[in-house]
Amino acid sequence: MTAANQKVVLRSRPGKGENNPPRESNFALKDCPYPEVEDGQILVKTLYLSADPYMRCQMNANTGTDYLHSFELGQVIEGNGVGVVLTSKAEDFNRGDIVESYHWPWQLYATLNVGGLNCLTASKVDRKLVGSHFSLVHGLYGPPGLAALIGIREKGHVDPNANQTFVVSAAAGACGSLAGQVARLEGCANVVGICGTDEKCCFITNDLGFDHGINYKTEDIHARLQETCPNGIDIYFDNVGGDITNAVIKHMNPNSHIILCGTISTYNSDLPYPPPLPDDVQQVVESQNITRDRFLVINYIEKFPKSIKQLSQWYKSGKLKVRETIEGGLANCPKAFISMMNGGNTGKQIVHIAYL
Ligand code: NDP
Repeated sequence: MTAANQKVVLRSRPGKGENNPPRESNFALKDCPYPEVEDGQILVKTLYLSADPYMRCQMNANTGTDYLHSFELGQVIEGNGVGVVLTSKAEDFNRGDIVESYHWPWQLYATLNVGGLNCLTASKVDRKLVGSHFSLVHGLYGPPGLAALIGIREKGHVDPNANQTFVVSAAAGACGSLAGQVARLEGCANVVGICGTDEKCCFITNDLGFDHGINYKTEDIHARLQETCPNGIDIYFDNVGGDITNAVIKHMNPNSHIILCGTISTYNSDLPYPPPLPDDVQQVVESQNITRDRFLVINYIEKFPKSIKQLSQWYKSGKLKVRETIEGGLANCPKAFISMMNGGNTGKQIVHIAYL
């Protein structure tokens, strides 16, 4: 007898226009056949799935980007996943191997293609790296951790002798919580995080060692930036865009740098990415000679192995701390995704699907 199988599909799109948050009714849980494995493929059992902000853009008919495809209505949702090989008809893959992919279906059992670019099809997970903490491939060793490290190194211009101030938005999230810690490890003198609750502000300052936390929902951002960044801002790691970013830019120093990682505050619209800045803010960027290049971690795949090694050294020596928010069960993937989009997560939002 074969095991029962289930998947989560896109039932409807959140809608066109300014502000359309995703709802649970946009998704549906469906029974589906247990997959047949073909030559060159592996059959996997899903262990963990990752809920990531960019998936909201894929719920639109037009993702607004040239590197993300749109989910089709009725199609299984796919994103970052990790699981175990049950059957292999692919060279070099064996039953029991732990594998990951950035194109993993939200499905209990699935067949995956192997080979090609690392992570874009299924690739083996290094057990020495993760031990039995498989979900680390979604946070620390996945796009958030890699974007934090590579983003700062490629676009941040950190100079440990320059007494720099670093500000990060969505600071208690997957990317932000790691970016602030990496900035400190690289040599920034003053690390300030902006996030949505007092608990998150306490987490980044007490647990992660940021110098200051600013609650953008209850505090005056301008006043708090003035207070916490008396020498101005040298590096801004932007995860959110919108009003927070418009405020931060006005406190940035001449010749400072923005690491344009993402703009989650605009993902519930159908704006193209990255959306333009308001005229007065764009004027500040230009007059202050602030750099603001678009940064996309998958453009740096050749830097992944070295970066993972660095992140692992810091993590294993206790210099880098990792937090996860874990939901359970395939049926709860939409709920976890929506919660993350609304700030319900601290650290990386993960969904645990099955035990090994
Ligand atoms: P997070 O773990 O940070 O989760 C998202 C967080 O965003 C929420 O917890 C919430 O925290 C905050 N948020 C939601 N809506 C708003 C809003 N309107 N204004 C301000 N904050 C908001 O997600 P990730 O770390 O996975 O992603 C963070 C950003 O990094 C995203 O923009 C994502 O697209 C981008 N990214 C880019 C990569 C790249 O290669 N460029 C790679 C990976 C991620 P709060 O409670 O603080 O509001």
